[in-house]
Amino acid sequence: MSVDFRGLGFGAGSGGTGSGGKRWQLRELAKNEHLDWSIIKRVLKAFIPYWPKAILVTIIIFITSIGGVLPAWLTQKIIDDGIQKGQLPTVIILTVALIAAAVVTGLLGVWQNWLSNQIAQNVMADYRLALFRNLQRQTVNFFASRQSGDLVSRIINDVTAIQNVITSTLVGFISNLLTIAVTLLLMFKMDWRMSVLAIIVVPGFVIPTQKVGRVRQKIQAEIQQWLSALTVQLSEALGVSGALLIRIFNREPREETKFCLANEKLRDLQIRQGLIGRWLFMWLGMFSSIGPALLWGYGGWLVIHHEMNLGVIVAFTTLLSKLYGPLSQLAQIHVNVLSSVALFRRIYSILDIKPEVQDGPRTIPPNSVKGRLELNDVSFSYQHETKDDREAKLALCNINLTVEPGQTVALVGPSGAGKTTLLNLIPRFSDPVSGCLFLDGIECQSLSLESLRAQMGLVPQDPFFFHDSVYNNLLLANEKASQEDMETACQAAQIHDTIADLPQGYHTVVGERGYRLSGGERQRLAIARVLLQSPRIVLLDEATSALDTVVERKIQDALAFLLKGRTAIVIAHRLSTILAADKIIVLDKGEIIASGTHQELVEKSPLYKRLYETQFSLP
Ligand code: ADP
Ligand code: MG
Repeated sequence: MSVDFRGLGFGAGSGGTGSGGKRWQLRELAKNEHLDWSIIKRVLKAFIPYWPKAILVTIIIFITSIGGVLPAWLTQKIIDDGIQKGQLPTVIILTVALIAAAVVTGLLGVWQNWLSNQIAQNVMADYRLALFRNLQRQTVNFFASRQSGDLVSRIINDVTAIQNVITSTLVGFISNLLTIAVTLLLMFKMDWRMSVLAIIVVPGFVIPTQKVGRVRQKIQAEIQQWLSALTVQLSEALGVSGALLIRIFNREPREETKFCLANEKLRDLQIRQGLIGRWLFMWLGMFSSIGPALLWGYGGWLVIHHEMNLGVIVAFTTLLSKLYGPLSQLAQIHVNVLSSVALFRRIYSILDIKPEVQDGPRTIPPNSVKGRLELNDVSFSYQHETKDDREAKLALCNINLTVEPGQTVALVGPSGAGKTTLLNLIPRFSDPVSGCLFLDGIECQSLSLESLRAQMGLVPQDPFFFHDSVYNNLLLANEKASQEDMETACQAAQIHDTIADLPQGYHTVVGERGYRLSGGERQRLAIARVLLQSPRIVLLDEATSALDTVVERKIQDALAFLLKGRTAIVIAHRLSTILAADKIIVLDKGEIIASGTHQELVEKSPLYKRLYETQFSLP
């Protein structure tokens, strides 16, 4: 007789990195968890769309629970009513029933599995989408202050763990409970004395299972720590920047020693974990023989004294496994529930983050935009989430600025002055703490983000490209662009020749791990991208790196084309751009300290004069 302990996580293997790891994480989460009904209610709500399936699953589980104990009862009948009384027809009928019960239960099990898997996958897909949607609505700053790895892990790993919640916690709970109930019912119906004996043996199963479970959990926690140490070391040592650092400081031997330590710890822990499982299996194996032995002994005595039929003993030995397996699993259910609550708490903590920038109701027809920008007493702080306003340091303070349609405004100032911060307010990557922005006299916050951003082209300081072809990266700006449009834009941005020379021309993959474009090339490709988009307003964060005269010339031409006839705010680092601007704003410590033309500023602003002498006048 075997007891089904599959649900307990005592796989024959040494466990560890795979699902064992996930289970450990869940347990770890459960440590400081309490039963939070508001979360449980929310989780149950997620199942509402699938309620017909959920009810069907419950019904099937109910039937299979009965089907599971049926063989024991039929066996007893075969022995006592068939064999003992010499009734062959009874034996045959009951044998057929035994087979039928097995087949039906098996088939229903498959169906149940299929249904609950469907529910699980659907609920998981819903959560993934909801998380992604909410994250999409967050501001750029949100991502600046968070580890992207952690967010990715929430969507991928946490949501995947939901499967476990549904299959082992929910389904497991219902089916174990039902199985135990039906089993006990049948046991007591057959013989109460034998039932009491069977129950007395229960702690022998449940206690060691729980004890070993706890030890394994502890070991798993250690394994997980060493694993994560190893992962961190690997990802640092095997990345380009880390590899460079290790080589230049001759750290290879020390890195190896560090690796060896973690590696050996892991080996030893895994061996220990494997051994603990074996002892438990030995113990359980032994107990699953001792239980029936006691039943045979006591039952035999009862049968000899004609107080009970032989078939009952046989039935009881079969029923034992239906009692002990589910009981051991139920004994762990609270950990499962608590860890599930903790898991969902993590998921909801992301789902509940309110986007800092809210969509507005108004839209403007794209062609009617003139492109007048106005900033009215605008202040901004990166810490405005903190409760204490006095602590919040202002990154921008009372900015007043008007840019007429078609005008170019150059922003200059030392590093950290707030230039990028100011630029990011225009397309509402963030909203000001106080003050207002207006586009053509309409308050920007009342506009829909889509219609606002459709008017804005952005060339960031270090332009990003997706790991995709040049062609597709350009398509991002304008889905309707043809190859010709692209070439025209790229020619204007002085990048066409470079692209044409790439191995696959416009279909060369660039970006993250693709072909490496130089800084200047990326900037010009980004300019081409904005040209394709053809927005009314251009926002440009100029690259700071010094360029040689040929490239400088090319960029100057590209920029001239980009800014022509458009409203533009340019963070300028090069004299040519500054000179081309209609107005120059000098920003320092988040405040506008001067504005005017180049000549005026050289005369009246010492800071501007210094910047000019140290930076702008460089080739
Ligand atoms: P600039 O572009 O003029 O060099 P920034 O606008 O990038 O300056 O930064 C202005 C100030 O805001 C700096 O003091 C900087 O440290 C701070 N800052 C920039 N980005 C963030 C952020 N995401 N969170 C908190 N502080 C920030
Ligand atoms: Mg900047």
